Amino acid sequence: PMQILWFRQDLRLSDQRALLAAVAAGPVLPVYILDDETPGLRPMGAASRWWLHHSLAALDASLRKRGNRLLLLRGPSAATLRALAASTGATRIHATTHYEPWWKAAQADLADLLTLHPGHTLADPASVTSGSGGRYRIFTPFWRALLNQMPPPDPLPAPQHIPATDGPDGDTLADWALLPTDPGWSTGFTAWQPGEKGAHRALKAWLPQVAGYETTRNLPSEAGTSRLSPHLHFGELSPATVWHAALDAAGKAAASFTRQLVWRDFGQGMIDTLPDSHWVPHRDAFARFPFRDAPADLRAWQRGRTGYPLVDAGMRQLWQSGWMHNRVRMVAASFLTKHLLIDWRRGEEWFWDTLLDADLGNNAMGWQWVMGSGVDSSPYNRIFAPVGQSEKFDAAGYIRRWVPELAPLSDTDIHAPWRAARPTAAYPAPIVDHAQARTRALSAYESIR
Ligand code: FAD
Repeated sequence: PMQILWFRQDLRLSDQRALLAAVAAGPVLPVYILDDETPGLRPMGAASRWWLHHSLAALDASLRKRGNRLLLLRGPSAATLRALAASTGATRIHATTHYEPWWKAAQADLADLLTLHPGHTLADPASVTSGSGGRYRIFTPFWRALLNQMPPPDPLPAPQHIPATDGPDGDTLADWALLPTDPGWSTGFTAWQPGEKGAHRALKAWLPQVAGYETTRNLPSEAGTSRLSPHLHFGELSPATVWHAALDAAGKAAASFTRQLVWRDFGQGMIDTLPDSHWVPHRDAFARFPFRDAPADLRAWQRGRTGYPLVDAGMRQLWQSGWMHNRVRMVAASFLTKHLLIDWRRGEEWFWDTLLDADLGNNAMGWQWVMGSGVDSSPYNRIFAPVGQSEKFDAAGYIRRWVPELAPLSDTDIHAPWRAARPTAAYPAPIVDHAQARTRALSAYESIR
């Protein structure tokens, strides 16, 4: 009997348990549904849509090589799938489990037709519990408990042939108009190769560096992290594949890198238990935080014109390339929420729209962590000093790359251009004074304690 394979953030054929189960049960109709309609669903941001376009094109091409193709439909997921099953006579829908609240609702809605398979995380977050069965709210014990279940199951190869069946015609990718139309941003997206092949290529290129990750990971001027995040978000690689590859490449020295992969599982567990994390602060007092409504400052931050070179380099890297180094994400997020006292949710929304790796769990977790409002987060009074961080993590090369008007400055002056003998005309003066902003942020925090 015919099987539907429902793709979401699992756009791969390797280590794809839902696909293998479908192939074992009958001819397969693979479908991707562009869903902007399910109630409560958060539509993908613009950068994610660019990635999606290319990833779906790559997935369709790989399916065609195996005798099948990808059906594209648009609409609310559960109703669209139900109608598809009814019109084609499919008896079962196979899919990978996802934890976004709207996906959980759709999964529940389709329970009579749907078989769910693991693979989006290293372990099922609901299985990572304390002795008394409770879910962890703090990372380190979560990580230790998850390690007891590691290594994850060995990755499974893609099937050679995926028997096809007749289905409706569906949309074309062009119908969906997912690509940016404004040439002012996304100019650097072409450096990425979305899709399973690009994901495996990026993994292979990264492996020789895994052992050095602990020292390179904080240096934005170097390519010292894997840049696998969009591939992992869209499921072009399973985290189990990355885990095994890192261990095979570096043995014990992979531990610092694989620990970071566990943060991703922790983020999935967070939205599984606290589904409103992208707009509800975990710590109640933060609901009363005296944020400023400052649209001009928000705009300066978004476009990389705050006058703080490391912040601006990060925000421009994001705008142009769809990605930002983790150290700089922390500094830029701290600057928005503490130096500018702008609501972390404005920053979270901007990242959601502009990051190629925008992920409900990881993004909300990152913002709440920096804001200090999260269940496991940095203390509020830890305010990143944008100049100090820039010097400490040797960001001169990074700033030269993303803020070219500062390139002529010396390695010393480039972190704080106002110190240079001659000002750089094209670059703005700082929009806030660091010391004053710091004092203001601390007193805002005192007011909610
Ligand atoms: P690597 O350092 O090579 O790590 C490997 C993988 O581990 C990553 O691809 C990612 O899947 C996972 N990982 C690493 N660090 C973290 C972390 N701190 N939290 C969760 N997972 C992690 N990550 C996203 O994937 N999507 C987001 O929308 C996102 N928003 C963020 C917002 C803020 C304010 C902050 C501070 C962090 C955010 N992160 C987000 C986490 C982190 O910055 C990125 O995962 C990382 O920079 C991706 O680069 P990489 O693939 O080279 O990571």
